[in-house]
Amino acid sequence: MSQYWSSLVHTLTPYVPGEQPKVNNLIKLNTNENPYPPSDYVLDAIKKATDDKLKLYPDPNADVLKKRIADYHNVDANQVFVGNGSDEVLAHAFQALLKQEKPLLFPDITYSFYPVYCGLYGIDYQTVPLNDEFEIQVADYSQECGAIIFPNPNAPTGRLLELDEIEVLLQSHTQQVVLIDEAYVDFGGQSAISLVNKYPNLLVTQTLSKSRSLAGLRVGFAVGHADLIEGLERVKNSFNSYPLDRLAIYGAVASFDDEQSFQESCKSVINTREELNAKLLELGFKVLPSAANFVFATHPQFKAVEIAAKLREKSIIVRYFNKPRIDQFLRITIGNDTENQALCVALEAII
Ligand code: PMP
Repeated sequence: MSQYWSSLVHTLTPYVPGEQPKVNNLIKLNTNENPYPPSDYVLDAIKKATDDKLKLYPDPNADVLKKRIADYHNVDANQVFVGNGSDEVLAHAFQALLKQEKPLLFPDITYSFYPVYCGLYGIDYQTVPLNDEFEIQVADYSQECGAIIFPNPNAPTGRLLELDEIEVLLQSHTQQVVLIDEAYVDFGGQSAISLVNKYPNLLVTQTLSKSRSLAGLRVGFAVGHADLIEGLERVKNSFNSYPLDRLAIYGAVASFDDEQSFQESCKSVINTREELNAKLLELGFKVLPSAANFVFATHPQFKAVEIAAKLREKSIIVRYFNKPRIDQFLRITIGNDTENQALCVALEAII
């Protein structure tokens, strides 16, 4: 029935999310979720929100959550924007801030939603190659541009750009918005949120999907200068005034109140990552240094797609990419201890 499609739909190449299998008996290491469940404190807050108020619309501004995030990150509430997952926050940012006369720049190997949003919103973009070690080089972002976006740590590489390098970039691009997508920052990076009051062109996005074990609740946020946030609010209020439901608002607030569980689960993920790293090196893999909740690894003798297929036969799902330069890499999400052990045993049998 594609004769009914708008001309836009014919041009789109939509994002293909990682597989969410319908069966439960798989070890799922393919979409960078947290292996640990949300704490009882967070679950109780969500249960409490399922009262008779569910018949009412939630607060369209999610003020209680914005205030909680603002306090947590030492900024004002009007410097915080919240949305239905950071994918939605990013979508609004592409429309409100990154769509400029000159092209948007992002790395050639990065989160594959960026070119999708460019297609959807008609944004011209250019990609900037990572160096031989798959690092972002800020010196390579010197060409004329309308804005810049990249994840830090980058995905799917896991490589981190230090804050002093980010400052170099901000200082040389004061007329452009620089958006840092910190979906994975809590697993070993330093957040650039500490810089937002120094650089009015800096917008930082984060998500509760990874380090806060709430991928199913769909909450993300952005922090930046109040003017940038107002731009996002205008787009949001022209699209969906109620992006966050009542359960998401209260569950997210509770997550910021429960610092101990958050810290403990991040620490466990980091420890397991280092154990997996050591095991992969022992098995002859090359592993990129990761500051995220996944590792990106390649083996000189075995094809990534074949290792992935053999792991799948053993009920373990990992991700590989049909893209030049990274098609020999596996991206493996960090699991819990049991999952990690099963993965290591399976890899020992394959390699
Ligand atoms: N940014 C990056 C780099 C990601 O990998 C992801 C997760 N796929 C997101 C943003 C979006 O996460 P969410 O919508 O769950 O907040």
